[in-house]
Amino acid sequence: MSLGSKETRKRKRTVLARSGRQPRKPRFAHAARPRIERDQFVQSRAEAEAAIADARRSHERLRQAVDLLPQGIVILDPEGRYVLWNKQYAEIYSKTADLFQEGARLEDTLRVGVARGDYPEAEGHEDEWIAARLKKLYEPGKRHEQTLSDGRVILIEERRTDDGGVVGLRVDITELKQREASFRLLFDGNPVPMIVCALDDERILGVNDAAIAHYGYGRAEFERLKIRSLQAFDSEPPWTKDRSSEEQAARTWKHVKADGALIDLAIYSRELVYHERPAVLLALMDITERKRAEARLAFMAQHDGLTGLPNRNLLRQTMDEMLLHSRRSPEKVAVLMLGLDNFKAVNDTLGHAVGDKLLRGVAKRLRSTLREEDALARLNSDEFAIVQSGLTRPEDAVGLAKRLLEAIADPYLLDGHSVVIGASIGIAMAPGDGDESEKLLKSAGMALSRAKLDSRGSFAFFEAALDAKAQGRRKIEVELRDAIQHDVLRPYYQPLIDLSSGRITGFEALVRWPHAERGMVSPAEFIPVAEETGLINPLGGLMLRRACLDAVTWPDDVSVAVNLSPLQFRSGNLLSMVTDALKHSGLSPRRLELEITETLLLEKSAQVLATLHALRALGVRISMDDFGTGYSSLSYLRSFPFDKIKIDQSFVRDLGANREAQAIIRSIVSLGKGLGVIITAEGVETEAELSCLRAEGCDEGQGFLFSKARPNAEIISLLAAQRGIDGDAALVA
Ligand code: C2E
Ligand code: MG
Ligand code: MG
Repeated sequence: MSLGSKETRKRKRTVLARSGRQPRKPRFAHAARPRIERDQFVQSRAEAEAAIADARRSHERLRQAVDLLPQGIVILDPEGRYVLWNKQYAEIYSKTADLFQEGARLEDTLRVGVARGDYPEAEGHEDEWIAARLKKLYEPGKRHEQTLSDGRVILIEERRTDDGGVVGLRVDITELKQREASFRLLFDGNPVPMIVCALDDERILGVNDAAIAHYGYGRAEFERLKIRSLQAFDSEPPWTKDRSSEEQAARTWKHVKADGALIDLAIYSRELVYHERPAVLLALMDITERKRAEARLAFMAQHDGLTGLPNRNLLRQTMDEMLLHSRRSPEKVAVLMLGLDNFKAVNDTLGHAVGDKLLRGVAKRLRSTLREEDALARLNSDEFAIVQSGLTRPEDAVGLAKRLLEAIADPYLLDGHSVVIGASIGIAMAPGDGDESEKLLKSAGMALSRAKLDSRGSFAFFEAALDAKAQGRRKIEVELRDAIQHDVLRPYYQPLIDLSSGRITGFEALVRWPHAERGMVSPAEFIPVAEETGLINPLGGLMLRRACLDAVTWPDDVSVAVNLSPLQFRSGNLLSMVTDALKHSGLSPRRLELEITETLLLEKSAQVLATLHALRALGVRISMDDFGTGYSSLSYLRSFPFDKIKIDQSFVRDLGANREAQAIIRSIVSLGKGLGVIITAEGVETEAELSCLRAEGCDEGQGFLFSKARPNAEIISLLAAQRGIDGDAALVA
């Protein structure tokens, strides 16, 4: 209770009585006194009473004033007795408030409070606690905290007054303390590593358990470090860069753990005051794995998974940089495109695992042949590209090409197999063959195709003519596709003449393409394009159907010969294509001849032979076309029972004048006789050739001397003419 209660007033009277200031009854009531003395007494008494009233008023004012303060206030006299306390003080110590009275000693109220358990901090060592508390009371200056039994925390600040007493201030900081505790809990128990770091000297002031576990430092060691000593590279701590911007609160940082491992961190920072020091709270999210995964993905997007070499994308970037650099200097850049020869055969015969190992081996050898600054990439399954800069002459690229071919050529020992693989190289140079990466790669690719055609295991430079040719081929492809779709292609027929009777035995169907702008386009021009692009299959089918349909209209003893490309044997449906054409036209199989070339038998494929046998079993006849131009291995003749051999026109040319040619014809004719095979001579142009062929006993002839290839309409009249005239005179002049 504060001043003014009944007891207080009673006690005050007692105090005043003891001090002798209380008006007493006169000892000599009736004794005469000098009047002046009495007057003086009355006066001073009145003065004293006025002073007391004054003091009481100011005491009352002071009491009212201190009651207004939000903090608890207590004033003690030099002996530690209560003089004044306000309402807040009494509320803070509501449990002990019944003990407060003016003149009561703080020490006594403390003692009673401790005994009642109002001060849990004192438990077990009550006397020491009270002594320590009183010591603080008389040596004030430092703030301290006190916990009460109801859990509240009170901040105490005390000052000595001039008269030796004490003025004490009490602030209830329970809520603040609770906030602090929950922050502590959030900090200590947080699974995210957290560090509190001083802003001024960057010293680490506190770390949580997660930080200790993550970094591997002991707490004491950790809290002796400066934040910079965690950094992998010396740089300004990220929070210092732009403290004002909230969005910048999250940044990345590279740290070193106690074991030396590097980690990437995303940092969230917030400034705060920690133990009265301006500090920053850092939450450190370890993003090392994420960064690694990102880096892995970025690597995979730009590299070949098998060899680890850059892929086309990355090579183009590197090339663009090299080209940019070379533009400012007289130096040249060379692009060498290297293709492995017959890599498919390795895969097919030894399996993909060995194929993969071979590619890795090749990549390794290429890399070790190159300088550090040369770029190497894998473009597709069996093609690599090498980019060399700083060249002065194209010959410099030749040197490298030779070294690369040599490096590759040595055998590779793979899973117990000794594998040998060759390669061809196409070279394009900048400036000249293209100024940007894609064009250069294309040029090098064209040069590579050329190198492979020339002879495998060689290299070739890009030539502008190659490019023009390639573009011409592309044009043909587009137009040919269109011509097939619109059924523009037609067979023309060239007769085959029995040389002994001079009669037409049959016709060879030769494809003709009447082109709106270019007139009749030669098959020599578009058959290779059709073979490259797969258009040979629809084209071949079309020719077969047409030829059969036309041939049914001819006399029964006249056959038709259709050329087949080796590629048609790969498509798998050749047999059904032939049976369909026969069925659809109603032509007898024995009137159909199919012409194949030696290249078909080059691969010695069981599937090809099976198809040939199946065709022959249908009753269809099989001819070997252009005999003598290919590998002319006699084993081909043994591998399949051909019905006819067509000697290539190059042997027929100049037959009269050339003894060697004549000897060759003679031996082929006798070979045919031995095998029971019809021998046909192609490209017969002159009478001399014809008489020579006749003399050698050649069975059949075909050539401009008899007739060029003609449309079907003309064939019918040609055959009618043959029927009308005497056999001998038919077509032979
Ligand atoms: P090939 O099968 O050897 O056909 C003979 C070629 O020689 C024809 O050329 C023919 O016109 C030509 N020729 C015939 N007699 C003479 C002559 O006395 N002197 C000269 N210099 N040449 C003569 P064409 O029609 O240009 O055909 C060229 C080649 O194109 C053919 O050679 C054949 O391999 C191919 N071919 C033609 N049509 C087809 C077809 O429908 N399918 C396939 N796959 N290839 C075809
Ligand atoms: Mg032919
Ligand atoms: Mg031929």
